[in-house]
Amino acid sequence: MYKSILVPIDLAHRDVGQAMIKRAVALSDENGKITLLHVIGDIPAYAQSYLPEGQLQENLEETKKTLAALAQTAGAKADTIVRYGNASPVILDEANELGADLIIIASHHPGIKDYLMGSTASRVVRHAACSVLINR
Ligand code: ADP
Repeated sequence: MYKSILVPIDLAHRDVGQAMIKRAVALSDENGKITLLHVIGDIPAYAQSYLPEGQLQENLEETKKTLAALAQTAGAKADTIVRYGNASPVILDEANELGADLIIIASHHPGIKDYLMGSTASRVVRHAACSVLINR
């Protein structure tokens, strides 16, 4: 059983996210913590200047709500984190910051069956300092 589980979720594939959250619940200590993380791709500075003021912050809040709703549907009590950046380094960074002892990550996009593992998943497996469960 694990004390702090990080579940990175690609919100483009929410059904996969649900399955991973359920796994996290099953593997969590009684008093363990589950954290859901979504990483929004960086928006280039020139593009940001065209956005209405406060739009980036609004996106963060909306995305946090979406993660919280996903946790609720899966029957989980979970913290939610949303960050801008590149998925794999942000996932590794947050895992260290939280002192996570397990990361649960999907192997790849659903439907890409030929690939052994997706790019985010393989970078996380290679560089994580804690255990990683690959959800297939
Ligand atoms: P593919 O290369 O087939 O897209 P990835 O390795 O990128 O596969 O994605 C596999 C898993 O990595 C996702 O299901 C999710 O767990 C995690 N992941 C990918 N992108 C993100 C993201 N932007 N934010 C959080 N997690 C992500």
